[in-house]
Amino acid sequence: MSNISAYFDNGATTKISDRALEAMLPFLREQYGNPSSIYTLGREAAKAISRAREQVALALNCEPGEIFFTGSGSEANNWILKSYGNIIMSEFEHHAVLHAVKSDSNITLLPVYDKGFVKVADLKAAITPETELVSVMFANNEIGTIQPIAEIGAACKEWREKGVLFHTDAVQAVGSVPIDVKAMNIDMLSLSAHKFHGPKGVGALYVRKAVQKSLSSFIQGGAQESGKRAGTENVAGIVGLGAALEEAVAGIDAKNAALLAKRERICSAVLALPKVRLNGDLQSRLAGNLNFSFAGIEGEALLLLLDMGGIAASSGSACTSGSLDPSHVLLALGLPHEIAHGSLRITMSRYTTDEEVDLLLAKLPLIVERLRTMSPIWNN
Ligand SMILES: *Cc1c(COP(=O)(O)O)cnc(C)c1O
Repeated sequence: MSNISAYFDNGATTKISDRALEAMLPFLREQYGNPSSIYTLGREAAKAISRAREQVALALNCEPGEIFFTGSGSEANNWILKSYGNIIMSEFEHHAVLHAVKSDSNITLLPVYDKGFVKVADLKAAITPETELVSVMFANNEIGTIQPIAEIGAACKEWREKGVLFHTDAVQAVGSVPIDVKAMNIDMLSLSAHKFHGPKGVGALYVRKAVQKSLSSFIQGGAQESGKRAGTENVAGIVGLGAALEEAVAGIDAKNAALLAKRERICSAVLALPKVRLNGDLQSRLAGNLNFSFAGIEGEALLLLLDMGGIAASSGSACTSGSLDPSHVLLALGLPHEIAHGSLRITMSRYTTDEEVDLLLAKLPLIVERLRTMSPIWNN
């Protein structure tokens, strides 16, 4: 077993819920039929997938026929970004959006300013009759800021006749923020089970019925997922996704209220330390997300000492740690490189306990002080 006694990296992945795991187990054991087979064992697997499709549709307020299961959130994003050529997106999208575009695509990047929000006026100024896709993430994975998605949806809807589509990478938001794809005028949305206490390696893409014609099939082969994504389905994973999402969206407001109380405790304690800044606005932000920069400190060193103290957190996103490049998200906020390097992302979930918060608040100030006494930058 690991030495982790406090887990603050729910933005990277989450613990699977008991309910999701229990729902999956039969499909890893005795219910192993292929959903495309016509005998009972196969039909039961197909029925389980249909039920999961209904659970996702209910959570997003769409039709089951508008949900396509994928192998990850990254795959859902790639599917959309590779299907269009003239795209407007924010400059702090996840790399599974930014790096997924085709080499000959025409890309316009929208700024996110110091607080971490796209301005709808910038979008309106950027849309032209040639625009095919607008892709703006629902909530940012590093700083948690929730974008004005309903306003962006309304702006895109005015261009619907001209063929402008609106996609949102909602991988951080689904299960944490109430989402209604109809009311918000979202044409396409990506989600991923392991970010809301489901299993890894399974995601989904919502595509509004009327725009499905424009969507190319992503994997060729069999007729799975309405002929658009071939390959025998990850039955257990899909079942786990559906169960986890149903559980995540139930009582979402109460769960967020509990998270906000923990967030407030951490935020006031950390901001009381010298030379620290909070990255991204506190208004319109995921209830479980905090992101700080500490002057004079390397994010990687901070993570290592926290880990030695049994605390898991991250600096930038898990995908960029391991590289020494500062986070493109923090740079997009206008932070200088050396400040972007000293960042700490703390992400909680409904399983985060007060004891975990206590441990973090007991260790973090000492670690920050220790690193600063060793830091030549700080001592200058
Ligand atoms: C985690 C994440 C992804 C990638 O999802 P995977 O299922 O891990 O591929 C994409 N976008 C955002 C915003 C994420 O947080």
